[in-house]
Amino acid sequence: MKFGGTSIADGKKIRHVAELLKSYHDKGNEIVAVTSALGDVTDGLLENSINSSEKGKVSMVKEFMANLTKKHYDAIHDAIDDENIVDDTMQMIDSRIDELEKALIGICYLGELTPRSIDYISSYGERLSAPIICGAIKSLGIRSQAFTGGEAGIITAGEYGNARPLEITYTKVNEQLTPLLIDHIPVVTGFIAENEDGIITTLGRGGSDFSASIVGAAIQADEIWLWKEVHGIMTSDPKIVPGAKPIPHISYIEAMELSFFGANVLHPRSIEPAIRHGIPVRVKNTFEVDFPGTLIVADQTPSEDVVKAVTLIRNVALVNISGAGMVGTIGTAARVFSTLANAGVNIIMISQGSSQANMSIVVDGSQLGSAVGAIKSEFDHGVVRDVTHDTNICVVAVVGAGMAGIPGVAGKVFNALGNAKINVIMISQGSSQHNISFVVNEDTAIQAVKVLHDVFELEKHA
Ligand code: ASP
Ligand code: MG
Repeated sequence: MKFGGTSIADGKKIRHVAELLKSYHDKGNEIVAVTSALGDVTDGLLENSINSSEKGKVSMVKEFMANLTKKHYDAIHDAIDDENIVDDTMQMIDSRIDELEKALIGICYLGELTPRSIDYISSYGERLSAPIICGAIKSLGIRSQAFTGGEAGIITAGEYGNARPLEITYTKVNEQLTPLLIDHIPVVTGFIAENEDGIITTLGRGGSDFSASIVGAAIQADEIWLWKEVHGIMTSDPKIVPGAKPIPHISYIEAMELSFFGANVLHPRSIEPAIRHGIPVRVKNTFEVDFPGTLIVADQTPSEDVVKAVTLIRNVALVNISGAGMVGTIGTAARVFSTLANAGVNIIMISQGSSQANMSIVVDGSQLGSAVGAIKSEFDHGVVRDVTHDTNICVVAVVGAGMAGIPGVAGKVFNALGNAKINVIMISQGSSQHNISFVVNEDTAIQAVKVLHDVFELEKHA
């Protein structure tokens, strides 16, 4: 069971989480708890490390640390009753706070912030939360032990900021945690791991979902439960479509499609380890324990809801590459993609018509400058005539594994948009047919999502 930052935002909520764990434990379940940082702590750590390297103000670090310490002290007092456990937890927190403060002050003096230091600093959110959850569990009379990701056996290669677990992780985690399960609820920090030299790495923002899935796969859990502050994976973003509903069942493939495009409910890679062992993943609401949430499983239960969800992705930009010389010139696409890859640009969407005279690519808005710059310099003279871009756009994605092989879905999508007088700028559908994505002008994007949510009656089906 993994608990997100909002689920453990303060001591009261941590107490609730400990009670929730106890209730499942008392019913005879063996549980590993995986925890995020207390709400907003990771953001604060990242912001402060940047400030320290840019401004070098030790006084700012002191102020930040005082607030952070208070937040965790308050949480300890609200979450834990047993005085001895309070003392032990305080000691642990004090020593970690001390290490963190030294590191941030170091960054102030050095004025340097490497990817390795960013991972080290941002790991403290979970390193501070896990001992508190562990203390709260113990205070309810259940044995517990806190582990960092590395201590639990999650070992990654050295790619800071977005590390992937090495194979050995699955054996190590199993060896570490499984023997404890008879009478313990171990607590593992989400998000953070170690490389083979014991240096802290992180799995990417929102990475504690991924940690939970890794741990679940390693111990061959019956289920992986992700406790969040939402009712599950939704048919759309409720902020855009007020009638959006939680989806009761969804397949791994659909969940992966949605983790990228969706309201960031899941870390994009979090399903991978679960898929390897066919372990069902449940997304549940910490604050409404009895609500069933979303169950993510391997088989695509045949259902009449061909489309499961409609989502919007903002802060993207469209790059248009054209030139008559591109027609029939072998290797143009390869050059475009490797140029973008070398410039560190992530490609979100691609489309090329069969005339081959034009290729459209959607990239993250923040990478537009690098993308356009790289393409222009690669194709200085030659096949590409024109590189234009548009930042006033959004991508809308219609997702559902049931679309595969069903005629008329694309027809229904574009017909509805046509009737609503929404202009479609670019379209892409892979042959897996799980996702139809298209680009519209920013001004019409929200309406496009609403129209499609309506046309596919997602409000009723979910
Ligand atoms: N604390 C990390 C973050 O905020 C990981 C997580 O919450 O899943 O990104
Ligand atoms: Mg978080």
